[in-house]
Amino acid sequence: MNQKHPQLPMADQSQQEMEELELQTRMERIGQKLLVLSGKGGVGKSTVAANLAMSLALAGKKVGLLDVDLHGPSIPGILGLGEKRLGPDGTGGIEPVQLTENLKVVSVGFLLDSPKDPVIWRGPMKFNAIRQFLKDVNWGELDFLVIDSPPGTGDEPLAVAQMIGPGSQAVIVTTPQDVAINDVRRSITFCHKVSLPVVGIIENMSGLICPDCGKRVDLFKSGGGEKLAEEMDIAFLGRIPLDPQIVHSGDHGRPFVHAFAESNAAKAFAEAIEPILNPSPSKKAESDSQKSEKTPTKKPSVTENSKMKIAIPVAGGQICMHFGHCEQFALVEVDTEAKSIVSTDYLNPPAHEPGVLPRWLHEQGANIILAGGMGQRAQSLFTQNEIQVVVGITGGTPEEIVTAFLNENLETGDNVCDH
Ligand code: ADP
Repeated sequence: MNQKHPQLPMADQSQQEMEELELQTRMERIGQKLLVLSGKGGVGKSTVAANLAMSLALAGKKVGLLDVDLHGPSIPGILGLGEKRLGPDGTGGIEPVQLTENLKVVSVGFLLDSPKDPVIWRGPMKFNAIRQFLKDVNWGELDFLVIDSPPGTGDEPLAVAQMIGPGSQAVIVTTPQDVAINDVRRSITFCHKVSLPVVGIIENMSGLICPDCGKRVDLFKSGGGEKLAEEMDIAFLGRIPLDPQIVHSGDHGRPFVHAFAESNAAKAFAEAIEPILNPSPSKKAESDSQKSEKTPTKKPSVTENSKMKIAIPVAGGQICMHFGHCEQFALVEVDTEAKSIVSTDYLNPPAHEPGVLPRWLHEQGANIILAGGMGQRAQSLFTQNEIQVVVGITGGTPEEIVTAFLNENLETGDNVCDH
């Protein structure tokens, strides 16, 4: 039987929708978002994130670097920005710290009085802080936003993956030993679960370049990252050697690839960004299709016995143009072979918060949602929940719409909510 869920007052709902729109508008001005992940701490993830961002900026790209390691922000230290604080941008937003002409940086470290200040963040606070960094920071037009998240697959990477929307990819950092490699598998599984394509794996601390003779010494076993990349059919972006200058630069706040541009490690970073700057045609097509996922390209998934569930947001018995404002969802079970409606249930949705409705409809068994209008980010959240989205339906009762859909003569117009 249909469960009763508390409904948010309309004012709260529209406030949330406004925020959602603001976030989406900000994110749409950013070409690619690269979420830097690692299975565990200490593999040099923040060092790699900072130097990837700097390498992209040195290659002439407009870059943002966001540090969402809320418990141990290390980016300010690595880049010598420990004294910087965030300020207003004059339009109600937050001004990022400008490190070079092409590189803007934001870290929770810029909000703390002292880097040693312990901050206790609980789940929802983390979610809100990350949301604010993405939504309220005046990033402007960027080619890349590099995001350094804490190690593992906890709240922070999950929140980021849910919020950044289309044009996002993960870079996974590992060290060569087997024990680190096993952690990477978890990161890759996480990316699959949140539908985040992996642009590639970087093996850090891979061999030592002798400061005297310049020869490479493999302290740990090397090649583990590359082997894993091959095994999991993921690009290998390269090996960054252990270089004492990286520790030194990090300790003295000098961006390494800038200060030691001629070093082997800096060159390895420059090579690692090549596939990101110039993706292979198949990768580019994949990322383009991720960005323009407006209408479904795949056939809706049909259960074995040709039954399928179609969700339609309704208000006053008719399709509701703004799915977040609907009173109820009609969940129409159909038989696609017989082209007939099996049953229709009317369900009261839970409070409308980002990600909640897609997850809830997935739990109700919905395979497809037919809607009037829907923003890009909401569409990708539905896709992540294995629900295909059709937008631009202009009116009608759920039964009329579903009948037209089954008979393949459903008319669709513009996506009235595709901001
Ligand atoms: P994580 O973010 O994975 O916890 P960090 O980026 O903070 O790791 O790096 C941990 C330590 O390792 C830092 O002192 C950093 O300077 C050092 N480090 C990282 N990569 C290298 C490298 N390739 N060569 C030498 N030292 C490195």
